Amino acid sequence: NFVIQDLVKEVVESLTIKLAERNIKFSIKKGCELPVTVFADKEKIRQVLINLIENAAKYGKQNGNIVASIYNTDEKHVLVEISDDGIGIAEEHLPRIFERFYRTDRGRSRDVGGTGLGLAICKHIIEAHDQSMHVRSKLDVGTTIGFTLDGRQGTKVNGEQVERQKA
Ligand code: ATP
Ligand code: MG
Repeated sequence: NFVIQDLVKEVVESLTIKLAERNIKFSIKKGCELPVTVFADKEKIRQVLINLIENAAKYGKQNGNIVASIYNTDEKHVLVEISDDGIGIAEEHLPRIFERFYRTDRGRSRDVGGTGLGLAICKHIIEAHDQSMHVRSKLDVGTTIGFTLDGRQGTKVNGEQVERQKA
């Protein structure tokens, strides 16, 4: 088990150069700072976060913002979402973006490189954890891609159960 916010921060640090290249700022959403412990394969979840934050950096808006939201949705689940304010994904593409090699025309025309495997890998990893991924997006407004994790024991800070904001 590990604290998901700590892993998010580690991943963002490892992507500092990519974010700085496009002057994109990263933050953890207000109210989501309290440490949340999750039960998962940390290195696999690191890979998921790298893929999602890399996408947000590639398809996000220059000088834009990436925000991570982390919530205990119930006693058993933690919801992690990465939001950007970039090019967005048209509704007709949404059902397919988790397919291997699937890239939207807009995504390709950004000329940022990529093979279309990142999200397929994320989905594979999250489903192997018996959890699920989801996406919400609006063209030219932005994209939120997220996943759930096992948060069985809820949040404990210094051994004390902490009541957290619901999503
Ligand atoms: P790779 O991750 O293999 O380098 P990729 O980023 O193109 O390549 P995925 O991460 O699987 O592949 O994403 C699939 C497609 O979904 C992208 O090509 C892009 O069209 C779209 N997409 C993914 N994330 C976003 C996002 N945050 N904003 C807009 N479009 C996105
Ligand atoms: Mg990608």
